[in-house]
Amino acid sequence: MSKTTWTPIEDVLTGDYAGKPVHLRGWIYRTRSSGNIVFMTLRDVTGVLQATVKRGNLPDAEFEDALKALIESSVQVTGVVKEDTRAPGGYELQVSSLTMVQFAEPFPITKDQSPEFLLDQRHLWIRSRKLTSILKVRSTVVGAIHSFFRGQGFYEFDAPVLQPNQCEGGSTLFEVKYYDEKTYLSQSWQLYAEAGIFALEKIYNMGPTFRAEKSKTSRHLSEFWMAEMEAAWMDLSDVVSIAKDEVKYILAQVLKHNKKDLEVLGQDVTKLETIRMSEFPTITYTEALQILKDKEGMEIDWGKDLRTVEEDKLMNHFLTPVVVTHYPREIMAFYKPSDKKDPKTALCFDMLAPEGYGEIVGGSQRSTDIAAMTQRLTQMGERVENYDWYFDLRRYGSVPHAGYGLGVERLVAWICKAENIKDAIPFPRTLLRFRP
Ligand code: ATP
Ligand code: MG
Repeated sequence: MSKTTWTPIEDVLTGDYAGKPVHLRGWIYRTRSSGNIVFMTLRDVTGVLQATVKRGNLPDAEFEDALKALIESSVQVTGVVKEDTRAPGGYELQVSSLTMVQFAEPFPITKDQSPEFLLDQRHLWIRSRKLTSILKVRSTVVGAIHSFFRGQGFYEFDAPVLQPNQCEGGSTLFEVKYYDEKTYLSQSWQLYAEAGIFALEKIYNMGPTFRAEKSKTSRHLSEFWMAEMEAAWMDLSDVVSIAKDEVKYILAQVLKHNKKDLEVLGQDVTKLETIRMSEFPTITYTEALQILKDKEGMEIDWGKDLRTVEEDKLMNHFLTPVVVTHYPREIMAFYKPSDKKDPKTALCFDMLAPEGYGEIVGGSQRSTDIAAMTQRLTQMGERVENYDWYFDLRRYGSVPHAGYGLGVERLVAWICKAENIKDAIPFPRTLLRFRP
């Protein structure tokens, strides 16, 4: 017996199979019957297709199965493809044989269910068209990040997930019992990357990152994937320009591979094309405050961090992502150096996405001044001796260097027009949820 060739639904929808028999396999997406006909919509990873099952066109027992089968049952069908302008996609399948792989039990997810219920049913909800489309985009984004950096001669470099030190502030650390001691889940790859550059010069990584975010927002996960880069001999302007190129490269890859998914998600493909081709502006924190004052009537004291509201108001005035540099030194992490030209500011940047998606990239030049870092860590109540290994990197062949981290889910949420960052990852972990 020859092996069955299974035709993907998207191939059927091209029209190349009109009038021809095909074998399909997948799941029942929708079904309704009327007398001696069952109208089924079938789905596979590539799309959905209407299938018409008529009594008399297939063995009676198979027709009875079709009548009985509930949504999400898994099936294999054979039939002839017919052009039908009334069918979604313009083609339908006239079924001549149906094999039930499994009769599904009544599916718990029906229309109009609450977001919390859908999160409880996440293991089933990820097969929805919306999440399937987002997951496809996510896969492209992840692939693009690897090819972007590898294409520019960066090496992939891995850091430990269990780390003895904080990198981004003690308040968001997840503590883990480590035999008789305690350690923390990684908040960032950066400190170890700063050791890696002395061997490999230009490195990147994408890995799970953990932050015990204590407030509920639509932008923060407790476990997310951060794509980070670090490079010797680079300064702030070098890494800002790499970050802009990276985001544009990712957009180009998504536009190349996921147009159909973006349409399912209601995203405007032309708008993303325009953004990809545009210059992303760079402004300073001080200029951002001026824009907020002039255009939004918001007076922010110099020295305060930009909160979500301010970021969103600022981005009302831009159609593309914007890079904001030179935040106040005092509110920045200990490793961000001050700018010699304006010591109250740091050589750092954030990239903000338009349309209220917030910060997608954060980065900086790295301090090489052990005394300044020691002072900052002491102010923060850190045990400075824990950082001695890190200071060694400034003792043995120190070089100027810089890097940044891009939040994969923040970027995916923006590209996919997701209402909440939780939809940008298969199984979100937040303040209130770590199940299923
Ligand atoms: P925010 O101010 O939004 O909390 P951050 O300044 O703490 O961000 P960084 O430490 O610069 O963020 O991390 C780099 C990138 O990682 C951010 O630009 C963002 O895209 C992403 N990121 C940070 N925290 C989270 C989180 N809790 N969930 C998802 N993505 C995050
Ligand atoms: Mg944060």
